[in-house]
Amino acid sequence: METPIEFLKGVGPQRGELLRSELSIYCYDDLLYHFPYRYFDRTQIMKIASVNERTEYAQIAGTLINIGEEGDGRKKRLVATLYDETGRIELLWFQGAQWMKKALKENEKYLVFGKVSSFQGFLNIAHPEIESWNPESAAAGMQPVYSSTQKLIAKGITNRSFAKITHAMFEKIGPGDIPEILPAEFLKKYQLCSRYEGISWLHFPENTLREQLARHRMKWEELFISQLLIARLRLQHSVQQGWVFGKVGDHFNDFYHKYLPFQLTNAQKRVVREIRQDTATGRQMNRLLQGDVGSGKTIVAVLSVLLALDNGFQACIMAPTEILAQQHFFSISKFLSDMHIPVRLLTGNVKGKDRKEILAGLADGTLPIVVGTHALIEDTVQFKNLGLAVIDEQHRFGVGQRASLWKKNQLPPHVLVMTATPIPRTLGMTIYGDLDISVIDELPPGRQEIKTVHRKDMARMGVMEFMRSEVDKGRQAYIVYPLIEESEKMDYESLMAGYEQVKIWFNENKYRIAMVHGKQDADERERNMKRFVKGEADVLVATTVIEVGVDVPNASVMLIESAERFGLSQMHQLRGRVGRGAEQSYCILMTGNKVSDDSLKRINIMVSTTDGFKIAEADLAMRGPGDLNGTKQSGMLKFRLADIVTDAGILEETREAARVLTEGDPGLKLPAHQPLRNRLIQEGREKHWGKIS
Ligand code: ADP
Ligand code: MG
Repeated sequence: METPIEFLKGVGPQRGELLRSELSIYCYDDLLYHFPYRYFDRTQIMKIASVNERTEYAQIAGTLINIGEEGDGRKKRLVATLYDETGRIELLWFQGAQWMKKALKENEKYLVFGKVSSFQGFLNIAHPEIESWNPESAAAGMQPVYSSTQKLIAKGITNRSFAKITHAMFEKIGPGDIPEILPAEFLKKYQLCSRYEGISWLHFPENTLREQLARHRMKWEELFISQLLIARLRLQHSVQQGWVFGKVGDHFNDFYHKYLPFQLTNAQKRVVREIRQDTATGRQMNRLLQGDVGSGKTIVAVLSVLLALDNGFQACIMAPTEILAQQHFFSISKFLSDMHIPVRLLTGNVKGKDRKEILAGLADGTLPIVVGTHALIEDTVQFKNLGLAVIDEQHRFGVGQRASLWKKNQLPPHVLVMTATPIPRTLGMTIYGDLDISVIDELPPGRQEIKTVHRKDMARMGVMEFMRSEVDKGRQAYIVYPLIEESEKMDYESLMAGYEQVKIWFNENKYRIAMVHGKQDADERERNMKRFVKGEADVLVATTVIEVGVDVPNASVMLIESAERFGLSQMHQLRGRVGRGAEQSYCILMTGNKVSDDSLKRINIMVSTTDGFKIAEADLAMRGPGDLNGTKQSGMLKFRLADIVTDAGILEETREAARVLTEGDPGLKLPAHQPLRNRLIQEGREKHWGKIS
């Protein structure tokens, strides 16, 4: 299977080079996995009368008459009529007319296949595939259609050439070259065809049923491999020794009974219990805490930190940005203010004496808690005995970074990852499958539902007046503009234009406006953001650079401009910036007067629910997993054939199969599992699976 493709009939060195550079197809094996993305069904011969304007491709058999040229010069074309007992249709050739004219014979019967178009009410097929009628060659099965590129097509490598090349390859190989990798009992239990059948039928299915069987088998294999990798990562976690947090001590109890400013929700209690159980086992905790914006994850982090302290360990909390780290630092310091436990903030901006102090405290253990950014994982930061790392909004943290934190100890710290991005179940099974998951599925009591409305440009006056009246009551408001990289300039201009407009409604003599956007340098952005956070600005005009997780309880209005350009999860995150205090909050989705169906669908979902999970499910269904926040770069979702939304059933099945197999033969040592083992080694290299652990 390693044979270079240029040795195949119809390829040669030049085309071989092109296939390599354009599609990374080097050898037989690569070509095998270049699957068709659709098929022309050539099993059916249609009657001409049943072909109509909605017919995409048609295969028909009939007799050819009226072959003749029409038009002059460049417009010259060859025209012929094909008829059967039900009707007639026109065939057209714009190129190679001379040659076709010689080759075709009137009153002969032909088999014709091609794309149906209509011109002034008459149906025709241009450049059809045509061959003399032969009852045996008719019904040629399903004809594969492959993706190609502009460059390849220009060099004559069309989807038909792919079919030919692939066909030539299958002439040279047999079932032995595509050996089975799944255990035989799986094929039986899950009713899967063999791997050879799966691959060869996907390229050249005799009929639709075979194509479906083949596709199912290959999707199954694909998902199974990913689930097997996850099952093995879980296994590794489960044997990874960790610190034992054996007791609940004074820090935790004092805080819980004396200083906790509110009652925990049941969901928060449950999660704290899960964390306590996890950290007491002697194995390393790897837990993902999911909770919608505002659900109260911070206090869970605080309690976990106290638990670490009770057992003689240090703890750190990492946030992806300076502002978030600061906010965490302030809220944690506030929670702990009466307990006299040292907490420090370490970011890139902390320098000189402060920095020295913090580093010394971490190294000798006198500083038990540190909150920070990436600065925490620099080599100069050494902990005496780090027992717990809490990572907030982990999507933005690279993997190597987390790993470097682990290296600082004999044993890795327990890891609690917190995310506000709700993750649909199927997605969770794929990207976070190796982590244990806790969910806070309940908001603290007394929260008012954020009122969300859709307004069009023509209603702008009313919207601005409403916002002003809210600000006049002493509240703060966000106004967010889209920022999309490709059109950065345009977006910048619309932001500036918007800013000028905002100033008309919010007179600068009376109102304080702050602005943040991506073109400012970090310091300026930070300064403006802080003004808003501290209540020194009434209105924040921003592009989407405003941070996930920023907590300004006094802000009660979120106006999203050009909402049609935002994705669902983005809008949900933005909306989560309001509704954090006791006041009734509002989210206004502003669009142009005309809105596409898709955008309208998204906006209607936003208006109809504030449930992050429902929104995430809808997002996944509408966009597909590849686009979801933060998952793109993970590489975990790059399936060739499978789709975790539509193939959720297969995903469940493979997950269970992978679990059972891993439990029975953790090292994949049985001879029957050898091919799987080899495949995993290969896959692990390609997809950088280390990334999710
Ligand atoms: P997130 O999950 O988005 O990080 P936070 O931890 O910032 O949420 O909590 C949001 C707000 O709710 C904070 O002001 C916090 O003090 C408050 N809060 C958290 N838990 C409770 C609770 N059980 N009862 C009342 N208020 C709570
Ligand atoms: Mg938070």
